[in-house]
Amino acid sequence: MPANNKRTVVITGGSRGIGRAICLAFAGPDTQIYFNYFSPGDPAAEEAEADRTETLTAGAGGAAKGVSVNVVSEKEVAAFFDTILGETGRIDVLVNNAGITRDGLLVRMKGEDWDAVLDINLKGTFNCTKIAARTMMKQRSGYIINIASIVGVTGNPGQVNYVASKAGIIGFTKAVAKELATRGITVNAVAPGFIETDMTALLADKVKAAMIGQIPLGRSGKPEDVASVVAFLASAKAAYITGQIIHVSGGMYI
Ligand code: NAP
Repeated sequence: MPANNKRTVVITGGSRGIGRAICLAFAGPDTQIYFNYFSPGDPAAEEAEADRTETLTAGAGGAAKGVSVNVVSEKEVAAFFDTILGETGRIDVLVNNAGITRDGLLVRMKGEDWDAVLDINLKGTFNCTKIAARTMMKQRSGYIINIASIVGVTGNPGQVNYVASKAGIIGFTKAVAKELATRGITVNAVAPGFIETDMTALLADKVKAAMIGQIPLGRSGKPEDVASVVAFLASAKAAYITGQIIHVSGGMYI
């Protein structure tokens, strides 16, 4: 057990949306949660969102610390994990959730929008997994859960960068699962469908209605629908599951 006798859970992009719901799903007296966030736009607003995640987690009987860390920066990620290890001495769960979209049709897509999405979604997942895996390998235990997307399997016009990043995460999940299995570490991905967060709030009502029309369960998903599956995959109940992509999409992909 960690120095403070708590389970150490690290969640990227925990300040809002699905990441915040994941923090809340792990909240409990025996768990120390660390999450990060990072958008260069409006630091004060992002800090306020991170504070809210901390407050909500405390209200749910847990403890969460949010730090501004860009998952793209190997240096910032290394410092983030150093601090965590300094405080708890271990990493029990890593959830790679941070992600962005920069949508556009292929022929009009700027190289910088391709790079930004691949960097944050895919390289960020690599950066955090690589560091957490070293500690988990020494522990001979750990759960890694990557947040992919239904479109990483189905494809989606207007999102070639995002789809490529999520398909990359799916392949990455399977390869890392095979590399780490003998060390007692499971690696799985959750592929959400259409979940109500800031990421989807900007979609036109017509687009949202069309998407909901394709969902057999007849409703959009809530961040909590994703978070509960992540918590399950990080539990002993899921100990015999690795390398899998679990769709949480109301049946959008069957
Ligand atoms: P969101 O509400 O936009 O939240 C994204 C989170 O990622 C925020 O906490 C954000 O921090 C953080 N982030 C962005 N860039 C970062 C960086 N460079 N370094 C560290 N953190 C960064 O998104 P969401 O809808 O909750 O999505 C969460 C994950 O689910 C993403 O991977 C997304 O692709 C995936 N997903 C979402 C849906 C959906 O329908 N919503 C569907 C499928 C998959 P700031 O607050 O500082 O910006």
